[in-house]
Amino acid sequence: MSQAHYDVIIIGAGIAGLGCATKLVESGIPADRIVILEARDRSGGRIHNAADDPMLDIPLSGISPAALEMGAGWIHGHGKQHLLSQLLSESKAGEPVVTDWRRTQFSYQGSGRQLGLLAIGSAMMRVGFSAAIGYARRALTSKHQSKAAASTLFPVASLHRTPEAQMLLYTQAEASYAAPLSDMAVSLLGQNETQGIDAQPHEGMSWFVKKLVNCAPSIRYRARVVSLSHASPDESVQAHVCCADGSALSARLGVVVTVPLGVLKNDMIKFSPPLPPAHLAALKRVAMAKFTKVLVIFPRRFWDSGKHGFIVVRDDSAARNELHSASYLCVWHNVSAIHGAAPDKPNALLGIATSHGALHVDSLTENELEQLVSQRLCAAFGLETLPFKPLAILRSAWNNDPLSGYGAYTYPTLGAQKADFDALATDCPPFYFAGEHTWLKEIGTVHGALQSGQAAALRIIEKVLT
Ligand SMILES: Cc1cc2nc3c(=O)[nH]c(=O)nc-3n(C[C@H](O)[C@H](O)[C@H](O)COP(=O)(O)OP(=O)(O)OC[C@H]3O[C@@H](n4cnc5c(N)ncnc54)[C@H](O)[C@@H]3O)c2cc1C
Repeated sequence: MSQAHYDVIIIGAGIAGLGCATKLVESGIPADRIVILEARDRSGGRIHNAADDPMLDIPLSGISPAALEMGAGWIHGHGKQHLLSQLLSESKAGEPVVTDWRRTQFSYQGSGRQLGLLAIGSAMMRVGFSAAIGYARRALTSKHQSKAAASTLFPVASLHRTPEAQMLLYTQAEASYAAPLSDMAVSLLGQNETQGIDAQPHEGMSWFVKKLVNCAPSIRYRARVVSLSHASPDESVQAHVCCADGSALSARLGVVVTVPLGVLKNDMIKFSPPLPPAHLAALKRVAMAKFTKVLVIFPRRFWDSGKHGFIVVRDDSAARNELHSASYLCVWHNVSAIHGAAPDKPNALLGIATSHGALHVDSLTENELEQLVSQRLCAAFGLETLPFKPLAILRSAWNNDPLSGYGAYTYPTLGAQKADFDALATDCPPFYFAGEHTWLKEIGTVHGALQSGQAAALRIIEKVLT
C-alpha cells in the first residue's frame, strides 16, 4: 500500500492533539502538511458531551450543554490569566458560569439531617483540603516522601475532629484525585493544585474542542495507530506510522503522540526502537484514576436551585469500614439549575463516583444503579422516596474504554517520583510526547493537556529552525 506523506503526524484528536495542530499551523507549517489520526469517530477524547451522541434519545430541551459533559466539565482556576478563560474572552463567547462550592449542602446518609455546622464550614473544608496536603507534604522528610500515601492525611483530617469532617476530607481528596488515598504519593499531590474558581462555559467544555477543530488541519477518524517506527537514514522522511486498517503514513519532521497514558501503559502502540527504559519505568509508576459520572435527568426539579452541590456523608457501618467509602456516588452537582433550567422543565443532577466507588458504579446493572441513585438522592434531600422517576440515567464509561486508557486522568502511585513525569514528557525525536500526563504542573486537566500540545508543536518548530 502506498504511503501518505506529511510533515507532522499527530496521534489523537483530544485537546492536546488539536492544540498541537493549531499551534503548528499558526507557526507556519501549511495545514495540508499536517494530519491528525484519531481512533474514534469523533474529536475531543476525554471531553465529550452527551448531547453530541447521535444515538441519545432523551428529552434534553432547556438543559444547558454545560450540564451534559460526561468527561471534563470545569475550567479549574478560571480567571484572567487562565488559558481557557482567555480563549473564551477572545472569542467573545461570554463569561463562564462559576460554580460556588461553598454553596454545598451536606447531609447524612440515612437520617438526611442537614449538617448545618459543616455547611457553614464548607469553605473551611475546601481550604482545609489544600492546607491538609500542604501540611502533609511539609511534615514528611524527603526520605519518606516518595513512599507516603495520601492516607497520611488521616492524622491531618483528625485536626478537624469530627468523623463527618474526616469523611468530607476523604470525599474532597478522592473526588479531586479520583484515586485511592492509600495509593497516592503525597509528595506529588498538590502539583496540580486546581485552586481558585471553577467555572463552566455556557456551551460546555466541548466549546473548546469545536473551536480548535474549526482551525485544525484534516482529521482522519477511525484511524487507530498501532505502530510507530524510525525511518532508515537513507529515507527522506523521519518516521513511519501504521494504522489498524493497514494504512501507512510517513512524517518528514516528526510524530506527536498525544494518546492517553493508559494507551501507552497497555502497549497498544508498538514503538520501534522501543521507548527508553526511564519512560517504560515511569509508565509502571503512574496510573489512570477512575472517575465515573452519572447524569440523572428528572422531568422537573424538586430540589433547591440555590445549592451548587450536595454531598452525602455516609455514617453507616460500611462507610466506617471503607477508607474510600465517600466516593460511592456521594457527591452531586446541581448542574442544570446553575445554568438556569426552568424548574418545571427537565433538570439534571450529576453524580460522581471515583476510585473504588467508580468501579463499583460501573459494575452495577441499570436497575441497581437506579436504586443507588435513589438511595443517595433521598439521603441528600431527606426524602423517603424520590417524587419522580428519572427520565434517563446516563453513565460515563471511561474506565472501560481502551481509547481513554481505561481511566479518566493520571495520578502518581506510591513510589512515583517527579522524574517519572519528566520521563513521560521527554521526546524521543522524531517521536514527540504531549497529553495531560506529560504536564505535571496541571496534570489531569484540559488546560494542562492543551498547553502540552502547544509546547510539543513549538519544540518541533524549534528543531526545524536549528
Ligand atoms: C470524567 C472526567 C472528568 C474530568 N473533569 C475535568 C474537569 O472538570 N476539568 C479539567 O480541566 N479536566 C477534567 N478532566 C481531564 C481532561 O478531560 C483531560 O485531562 C484532557 O481532556 C486530556 O486531553 P488529552 O488530549 O491529553 O487526551 P484525550 O482527550 O484522551 O485525547 C487523546 C485522543 O487519542 C485517541 N487515541 C487513543 N489511542 C489512539 C490510537 N492508538 N490511535 C489514534 N488515536 C488514539 C483517543 O481516542 C483520544 O481522542 C476530566 C476527565 C474525565 C474523564
